[in-house]
Amino acid sequence: MLTINHQGRFGLVFGVANHRSLAAAIGEKLAASGARLAFAYQNERLRDMCDKATQDIPDRTLLECDVTRDDDLERTFGRVKEEFGGLDFLVHSVAFAQREDLEGAYRNTSREGFRLALEISAYSLLPMSRLAAPLMEGRKGSIITLSYLGAERAVASYNVMGTAKAALEQAVKQLALDLGPSNIRVNAISAGPVNTLAARGISGFRDILKIYEERAPLRRNITQEEVGNAALFLLSDLASGITGTTLHVDCGYHIVGY
Ligand code: NAP
Repeated sequence: MLTINHQGRFGLVFGVANHRSLAAAIGEKLAASGARLAFAYQNERLRDMCDKATQDIPDRTLLECDVTRDDDLERTFGRVKEEFGGLDFLVHSVAFAQREDLEGAYRNTSREGFRLALEISAYSLLPMSRLAAPLMEGRKGSIITLSYLGAERAVASYNVMGTAKAALEQAVKQLALDLGPSNIRVNAISAGPVNTLAARGISGFRDILKIYEERAPLRRNITQEEVGNAALFLLSDLASGITGTTLHVDCGYHIVGY
């Protein structure tokens, strides 16, 4: 039987808000493969939720990091260096847009709303990758982020988050080119809709879930666990030839025309 063994390898996971978070499912799979993990939460107010959602993961480290703050990011990667000595896996599962920018007309997105959404949801992958790279030296590092079909298509209410995901997917390609010579791979998972905190902020999210169930080739929605499995594959050496790509984990919804 083919097993993935990540004993002696280290990962840093951003984006566990609670037990439903896609990052929580990814963390579970990585931990089950033997990796030692650190989880970054946004601020003190959210520490307890992250703590609870990751409590079954042995020996995990919790670190506070608001990805809009360079000093937080530097301190976080510094702590990872101190504690782990290096890094093999980086999981970027972070996104944000103001509630008013996830409903109504896209053209009404404010300058500040646009800036915030792109900074948190796309730009943050750049400083994370820059800080991860020296820690991944000589270790076959792997970085993944989470995207959505709204990067490629116009999706009602997804609005500025679609713009942010388009930037994110292009950043994945650009970073793959940057970091490939250092043997670091960068990929995205484009996940189908899953009922999480972030998803509930999108106006009409429940309708999206229903439409996927009706129209996706597999006639159902995906589970967090399926995202976890795909992430484990992309992060592992099984995907050693894959970089700069977006893997759709959406029960095939993205291929359907009519
Ligand atoms: P989630 O559980 O709400 O996770 C979103 C995470 O982003 C939270 O942990 C949130 O932290 C974090 N975040 C937001 N602003 C931050 C900041 N300034 N600093 C640090 N962290 C910050 O929702 P999720 O669905 O798992 O989302 C994870 C990723 O998957 C996102 O990129 C999302 O766009 C993507 N995705 C989700 C779906 C879906 O349907 N659920 C589909 C495709 C792609 P706090 O809660 O602590 O603020």
